[in-house]
Amino acid sequence: MLTLREVKHILREYDLRPSKRLGQNFLIDANIQKKMIKALDLTPEDNVLEIGPGLGALTDDLCATAKKVTAVEKDYRLWEFLSKKNERHDLELIRGDILKYDFNRDEKLKAVGNLPYYISSLILIMLLKNRHRIGSIYITVQREFAERIVAGPGSKVYGSISCFTQFYAEPKILFPIKKNAFYPAPKVDSCFLSVTPRDKGLYLTDEEKLFKIIRNCFEKRRKTILSSLRSSGLFGSKEEVIVALDKSGILPERRPETVSLKEFVDLNNILDIVQG
Ligand code: SAM
Repeated sequence: MLTLREVKHILREYDLRPSKRLGQNFLIDANIQKKMIKALDLTPEDNVLEIGPGLGALTDDLCATAKKVTAVEKDYRLWEFLSKKNERHDLELIRGDILKYDFNRDEKLKAVGNLPYYISSLILIMLLKNRHRIGSIYITVQREFAERIVAGPGSKVYGSISCFTQFYAEPKILFPIKKNAFYPAPKVDSCFLSVTPRDKGLYLTDEEKLFKIIRNCFEKRRKTILSSLRSSGLFGSKEEVIVALDKSGILPERRPETVSLKEFVDLNNILDIVQG
């Protein structure tokens, strides 16, 4: 845990300036830090991947319980600071971009991090694409992004990232975090989120097509689902879409934001049959 005083002291001593470009907001709230560590429910069998350790606000506590911690930090200055401070056999500090991390090198991981907000969605998508290597994900993200992730049909913020996440995993907002829990304080509040990859998903014939359909529908939220699908270029004729919607039990005049993930999946599977 690092206090505001300690963070300021480290920054001064090492002549570091928090980089906006790299989304550097350092955790300085002891209560939030404790709540995060408790929520992780770490065991001595856990292999943890820490995303963006920064000045190490969480790293020591992760190492205290987990079997091994691999921490990936993009900023050379922070990586250098952490490497000097932490020489322990259960911590591997990698200087690099988390988006290029090679998941094949590890046993199953618990992925943890107060994410740099400029790439939160890319990190989440990357983690979900590597879900077979990941037992659970615990991340801090902007509140608005967290709300989009957990949103369901009928919500104004329900969209393709909600469907993508919920198709592969079960997301849950664990607790809110005020902006002044970080230094420098970001512009907006955050949330601590758990995202647990599903062992078994919904039956699906064509994953790529499903997400093309979903993305296309949410790009035109105000249109009806019939009109969105017709103009998507994914289907041969209007009749094809009408038959598939009918067989899926979705009224053609519905707006995409009222269509559940399960209905999108049914629609995708039926379209595959209709199109032969
Ligand atoms: N975990 C620290 C904490 O809670 O105080 C720092 C959190 S800060 C919000 C995000 C961290 O991610 C920064 O240390 C930043 O340098 C690092 N970062 C930014 N982009 C990254 C990337 N592509 N790969 C790995 N780390 C990155």
